[in-house]
Amino acid sequence: MASLTFEHLTKTYPNGFISVNDVSLHIDDGEFVIFHGPSGCGKSTILRMIGGLEDITSGSIYLGTDLLNDILPRDRRLAMAFQNYTLYRHFNAYDNMALGLRLRDLPRTVIDSRVKEAAAFLGISEILDRKIRALSEADKQRVALGRAIVCHPKVLLVDEDFARQNDDRRSEMLRDILAINKKYGTTTLYVTNNYEEAVSLKKKIVFMKEGKITDIG
Ligand code: ADP
Ligand code: ADP
Repeated sequence: MASLTFEHLTKTYPNGFISVNDVSLHIDDGEFVIFHGPSGCGKSTILRMIGGLEDITSGSIYLGTDLLNDILPRDRRLAMAFQNYTLYRHFNAYDNMALGLRLRDLPRTVIDSRVKEAAAFLGISEILDRKIRALSEADKQRVALGRAIVCHPKVLLVDEDFARQNDDRRSEMLRDILAINKKYGTTTLYVTNNYEEAVSLKKKIVFMKEGKITDIG
């Protein structure tokens, strides 16, 4: 089960700043939820805590019925698409997408079919043997998303800065993550400070301000 539940989730930085303040929320398995609010309201901090990039100060995150902290990272099946995705420039697209699966010692045939399936889904089958440094920004973004989904995540975390540079890139990224959510039922959390964009997606919106949820619509 890939529902997510936050109970009194709080993040206080060492300087005393409270960036997430007692947030409780339930997200159903397969839901697509947008976190919207002004810059600095704590949206990304929530994603980073779910992704394990940031410690939780107090409160809890449950994945299904289990406390996230009790699940081994390799069993969490969470994938993140953030801006500073590091693709290996001198490796080709295929190897970049396969890397995480190879670290898990999956059989070659399984890795191969997963990489090819994700590539077909994202429309990048033709560029798999090309080096990252030779790719357009649009294709690099697709490879980074492909790398996130080859592990068949149950939960996908996407920060708007993943594609902030360019409006076309952003709408393409949104199309892709909506399609992933629809086809595979991947629970998806998307963070944006753009109100028009949040509304246009016609999905549940969690409104945040100063570390708190102010509304859900
Ligand atoms: P959002 O994603 O909504 O723009 P963030 O979650 O990135 O906001 O940040 C929330 C707040 O936490 C911001 O005001 C930011 O300045 C602050 N913050 C982030 N990291 C630290 C840190 N290491 N120490 C103190 N404050 C921080
Ligand atoms: P498995 O645990 O073998 O991945 P799943 O029931 O999770 O099985 O998925 C069934 C099939 O759906 C997978 O073999 C794969 O083809 C596809 N799939 C599932 N989730 C994703 C995803 N997030 N991205 C891409 N393909 C996926």
